[in-house]
Amino acid sequence: MRNNIAQKNTAMAEAASDSARVPPYGGMFSAIVPCRDEREALPIFYAEFLRAMESAGAENFEIIFVEDGSKDETLEYLRELAAKDSRVKYISFSRNFGKEAAMYAGLRAARGDIAAIMDADLQDPPFLLPQMFREMREGGYDSVATRRRTRRGESPARSFCARAFYRVLNSLSSLKFVEGARDFRLINRKVIDAVLEMPEYNRFIKGMYEWVGFKTKWIEFDNMERCAGKTKWSFAGLAMYSLDALTSFSTIPLVVAAAIGIFFCLLSSVAIVLLSIRQLIYRNSAYGWTSMICVIFFLSGMQLFCLGVIGHYMSKLYLESKRRPSYIIKEKN
Ligand code: UDP
Ligand code: MG
Repeated sequence: MRNNIAQKNTAMAEAASDSARVPPYGGMFSAIVPCRDEREALPIFYAEFLRAMESAGAENFEIIFVEDGSKDETLEYLRELAAKDSRVKYISFSRNFGKEAAMYAGLRAARGDIAAIMDADLQDPPFLLPQMFREMREGGYDSVATRRRTRRGESPARSFCARAFYRVLNSLSSLKFVEGARDFRLINRKVIDAVLEMPEYNRFIKGMYEWVGFKTKWIEFDNMERCAGKTKWSFAGLAMYSLDALTSFSTIPLVVAAAIGIFFCLLSSVAIVLLSIRQLIYRNSAYGWTSMICVIFFLSGMQLFCLGVIGHYMSKLYLESKRRPSYIIKEKN
């Protein structure tokens, strides 16, 4: 009995000294910022970020900028910033490797107990961070995720395609993808390490967050327009990214291809029986050239489509099997 009370007391004392030692948001925080051609947006981001840290009462943090093959003066600016502020770290890639590679590099470099990936253009608003720290601490969450409530300021065609993409992705994957979800999430060390356990070449971080699980709190915000500069995503680029995301987190397209095959096999066995009977009765097989051509076109199209689906998975397998690194670092501090 006494032993129990003593144990409880020690635990409480430990908890008290813990909360005195740990800054209000819990340990060291790493912000990871992928940037490609963000020279204009970076000073604005840096100022806003520091303001958010101040209002959260956070002192123990680092900002890891991952410069992803920029053509403007982004790297020069980061060098200057790092010389002035020791909390600024930067990693510069030898060429453009894409945002997914940049996020991976940032997570690997992060030394924090908690981390968040943020866009440099303020579309992942730093002012949400104090609330995210609070939610994580008070709700005991492993991850605090954000989603855009609206897509205001985005082109209607892009919004439509994004919505359609989420619908298809959700119907094809056993994981649940939240529409409008951002890569911007506050995650603790458990989640960071879980994501880093996935060294795959074809990366889709939103899927990885879902795949690793953990207790997640969602918060919503209204879409923010880019603070400066231009979007780095072309329509074709987004379409390819969507296709990769789809095949990274679902093998159902392969099942669909097989199902189409089975369906046409069954259909053709019925057709063989019916057409043979018709031929025996009417003996007029010369008719039906048009319909035959239509069927041939349709079926060859289907076959090529299914081959394409299989080919896409094979190409990913091929890329994975080469075991190439996701990125190459040219310079860092
Ligand atoms: N980005 C990157 N590499 C790329 C493309 C984008 O590091 O190849 C960064 C970019 O600098 C920004 C973030 O990823 O910080 C999101 O990009 P962007 O704002 O262009 O995308 P959008 O918000 O339009 O989807
Ligand atoms: Mg953006």
